[in-house]
Amino acid sequence: MICTHPHGDTVNGHWLCGKCYAKLSERPKTYKTVRTPIASLRQEDSPPPARYRQDVFPAPISTDENGMTLSAFIEAMAKRLIALTRGGFTKPDAIDYAIDLLRGFEEPFGNPELDWSHAGAWEMVNEDVQYWDHDGAGSNA
Ligand SMILES: [Zn+2]
Repeated sequence: MICTHPHGDTVNGHWLCGKCYAKLSERPKTYKTVRTPIASLRQEDSPPPARYRQDVFPAPISTDENGMTLSAFIEAMAKRLIALTRGGFTKPDAIDYAIDLLRGFEEPFGNPELDWSHAGAWEMVNEDVQYWDHDGAGSNA
């Protein structure tokens, strides 16, 4: 799968798409050719010659409407996971797990229908952990 979504954030050394949560090895860029006319070289009855330059625009960082970034949100989820499991997760594992959880919601980061605050990150983890208890105890709910 090739992700070409326009925003994301650096998480644990990888670029993470803020829309489909694909992991990319580097931050996507877009290139735009900028034309600058050189007015001083203008001759009558012809358009001025121009220089062309390629500007590079790195993909912007994903944030929600309150300025929470994707990486800070995942960090909050990961810390909650580590705390709830009393260190049962290493940091990279907790981050990967948090990313998987986010993918499960199938909502782009910053979608106003979900809570992207610190509390929202904890809530997502808390809800998931409830299911672990059922699995662990083998209960048939
Ligand atoms: Zn994407």
